[in-house]
Amino acid sequence: MAEPAQEAPVVLPSVLSVKELAEALERPVPDVIAALMKNGVMATINQDIDFETASIIASDLGLAVEAAPDESAEAAGVATKPTDGQPRPPIVTVLGHVDHGKTSLLDAIRQTDVAAGESGGITQHIGAYQVEAKPAKGKPRLVTFLDTPGHEAFTAMRAHGTKMTDVAILVVAADDGVKPQTVEAIDHIKEAAVPFLVAVTKTDAPGADLNKVKQQLAERNVVPEDWGGDVVFVPTSAKQGEGIPELLEMVLLVSDLANPKGDPKADLSGVVIESRLSRAKGAVATILVQQGTLKVGDYVVLEDVTGRIRLMEDWHGKRLTEAGPGTPVQVAGLSGVPSYGSAVIGAADEKDAKTKSELNRRQQHAKRLNKPKLSAEAIKRAVDAGKVKRLPVVLMADVKGSLDAIENSLAKLPQDEVAVSLVHTGVGTVSENDVRTADSAGAMIVSFRARVEPTAAALAKQLGVQVSNYEVIYELLDDVTAALESLLPPEVIVNEVGKGEVLAIFRTTKKNQIIGAKVTDGKFVTGSEYRIDKLEQTGTVTKLQRVEETVEEVGNGTECGLTIEGPSAEVGQTLTLFRTITKPRKLKPVSGGT
Ligand code: GDP
Repeated sequence: MAEPAQEAPVVLPSVLSVKELAEALERPVPDVIAALMKNGVMATINQDIDFETASIIASDLGLAVEAAPDESAEAAGVATKPTDGQPRPPIVTVLGHVDHGKTSLLDAIRQTDVAAGESGGITQHIGAYQVEAKPAKGKPRLVTFLDTPGHEAFTAMRAHGTKMTDVAILVVAADDGVKPQTVEAIDHIKEAAVPFLVAVTKTDAPGADLNKVKQQLAERNVVPEDWGGDVVFVPTSAKQGEGIPELLEMVLLVSDLANPKGDPKADLSGVVIESRLSRAKGAVATILVQQGTLKVGDYVVLEDVTGRIRLMEDWHGKRLTEAGPGTPVQVAGLSGVPSYGSAVIGAADEKDAKTKSELNRRQQHAKRLNKPKLSAEAIKRAVDAGKVKRLPVVLMADVKGSLDAIENSLAKLPQDEVAVSLVHTGVGTVSENDVRTADSAGAMIVSFRARVEPTAAALAKQLGVQVSNYEVIYELLDDVTAALESLLPPEVIVNEVGKGEVLAIFRTTKKNQIIGAKVTDGKFVTGSEYRIDKLEQTGTVTKLQRVEETVEEVGNGTECGLTIEGPSAEVGQTLTLFRTITKPRKLKPVSGGT
């Protein structure tokens, strides 16, 4: 047969409704909905789906598609690589294991800022600050630090497709060495291909061992320069204020490799690094300007939020009228609280801003629709398919002590078949960032006496992230254990009902077989499963007859007629009737464990 003529691919936009997709593909809507369902997406006729999903559906329907020229790249505000323009302050983020001294290091760096002292010492927390660093040669230069530890930043960047950072500082405590979150941080950095350096912190602490840290990192392919590698290591002590100028100097050196540039005349692009609802100012956000210049009075689009910049302040609380590349500024005048990591772009006027944000909103919604949620059913299905053997959890607690205690107890649960995977842990309140981290990892949030911020609760609801609060540790452990147990494939128990010998074959059809048999052991019961001899294949006994009469049961030693659906029997073979029951399994206690 001749190959069907190759048709030109159908051009589809980045987001479209099911109805629009059906029209574009020239297929009936029910066909498209059926194809979506087959792929696990439940969508109604007016629901939006993204290009990726649409292309899968199209290929299921035997059609080729291609993406429309990127009408959305601008609207989505995907940050373009800042390669044009003048050098701008590098944006630096600090990440590493919990308690390794990230916050202390950021505080110590912040204290090197003399401007704060000059302007009366008022600094306000806006999510980032700038300090001057002195390079080995030349004039001092500004460096922008994101002042919240960077794991969330990397997760948010991945979720939004934005770029927030030019240089990463990997913090490793000299007295503790490489820990799980250190490894996670290395993964984040490498995946995002961000230039980085290592700050070995707490060099003053008892048990500090710089060489051991180098050894452990070298084993993970983070090889110090003095060992022949290409990673700069700076020993620091935030407590004694040591190594901070050196660290800043090295940040400049590493950032020069990335050579961040920004063109103040380019179209505006930026990223949201903090946002909240302020009683006095309404929704406020800190925007890190990457390209272009943000001015008071400008119309902006922060993904699904719009705004006209009413007020702009730097981290000293100083009012600004404009901000160029590399500058973090807090702005007011927004229609809502944008999410962390949102891309920021400019708009010509209010109408343009609304159109762009509406397209972003549709795209986000379409993306979300395709993401599997952590329902008990969904976990179970994934497990049955052998995909998930880990229960992803974000664990939050009120204080460090309880967090440690819970982590220890979780580590003691049996891990051989299913295990808790701690995606993120934290102390204090459950924030929007925690919810986002959970969402991107498909995790549920387990909180022990940690307050859930109202905005976080709302976001969790919107994203479908499950948040469970506990006041008592053992109740928390019981529930996590139960969730793990629900992931275990159930135990299948086979109970033999009876045995018999096949005496006659009365009729064989495609669907079933009617046979005569004699019960030689136990009894025969309608609805039982059966097996012939020792054959693997099984079937069902759908009807039992005793002298013309349909019965439910036939006792031992009795001859009867059976209707069986499944493998066919032959005279002389042995029929075994059985019932299977499935029993939910319990986690086995760890053998030899304490
Ligand atoms: P983070 O969780 O990584 O932000 O760590 P923190 O900055 O909160 O520090 C965790 C603990 O380490 C705190 O008890 C700090 O006092 C301590 N710490 C931080 N920096 C140093 C340091 O340079 N020397 C010593 N000895 N302790 C430090």
